[in-house]
Amino acid sequence: MGTLFVVSTPIGNLEDITLRALRVLKEAGLIAAEDTRHTKKLLAHYGIGTPLTSYHEHNEREKAKELVDRLKNGVDIALVSDAGTPGISDPGYRLIHLAIENSVQVVSIPGPSALMAALSVSGLPLDEFTFKGFAPSGEARRAFFLAMKGTGRTYAFYESPNRLVDTLKDMVALMEDADVSIAREMTKLHEEVIRGKAEEVYRSLTGREIRGEVVVILHAREEKIKEADMASEIESLLKEGFRLNDVVKAVAKESGAPRAQVYKEALRVQEALKGEGK
Ligand code: SAM
Repeated sequence: MGTLFVVSTPIGNLEDITLRALRVLKEAGLIAAEDTRHTKKLLAHYGIGTPLTSYHEHNEREKAKELVDRLKNGVDIALVSDAGTPGISDPGYRLIHLAIENSVQVVSIPGPSALMAALSVSGLPLDEFTFKGFAPSGEARRAFFLAMKGTGRTYAFYESPNRLVDTLKDMVALMEDADVSIAREMTKLHEEVIRGKAEEVYRSLTGREIRGEVVVILHAREEKIKEADMASEIESLLKEGFRLNDVVKAVAKESGAPRAQVYKEALRVQEALKGEGK
């Protein structure tokens, strides 16, 4: 049996690779890479000549089977993505899962991840945090933030530069005083971290052309709604156009009241609004 090595690679600066990662990439029989052209540059920089094969989101299913067959025939395989840690919002899951199912040993070669790098310099509380992958777009994005509002927790997500300002706009509409840290182009020439209240960060980025790669970290202020204020909170969220279920989830979280009770109240408020023709 070969071993499947899950190898983290740099997120920009080629110096950010561990000695162990270099040795494993050199000694493996095959490197499965998200984009072989991209990984070739890394390998060329370090004089590594290991053969490459592509493993990406469009061929994951068939390729995972093929690679597990190679592992079962004794070939050691190193899995890499374009940048950072494979499997973290990147291809990897199917191969790793199938390898485990087939009793292949799976070994982590830890190293960079944009997520961890952004969290580590955010200055926000990190005893626990929730990683949300890529932020959704459109209507789903408002519900995404509504679920965070009032929780007193830290969240991290990936975002594309051209959607960042619109995303912040939706965040500000619900949580203008959330503490935000935006890490852009980490480990690269134009690296920057923009920190502040959601409202300030939004204002400072509006009208600016944002380029490169971005991770957003935010800490939602803890808010407790008193039961007496529940109806007015429900009313204002419904008037803003949020779906009943999303409102119920958020208000139950913020008030600590049982979801069934909030649901009943929300139906009552919804009916009353209909009666007023709103
Ligand atoms: N698996 C990768 C990891 O562990 O870093 C993440 C892959 S995900 C497809 C790519 C996203 O990671 C980008 O859209 C961006 O949000 C973030 N990212 C990657 N490199 C970055 C960098 N140097 N600076 C800031 N964000 C980065």
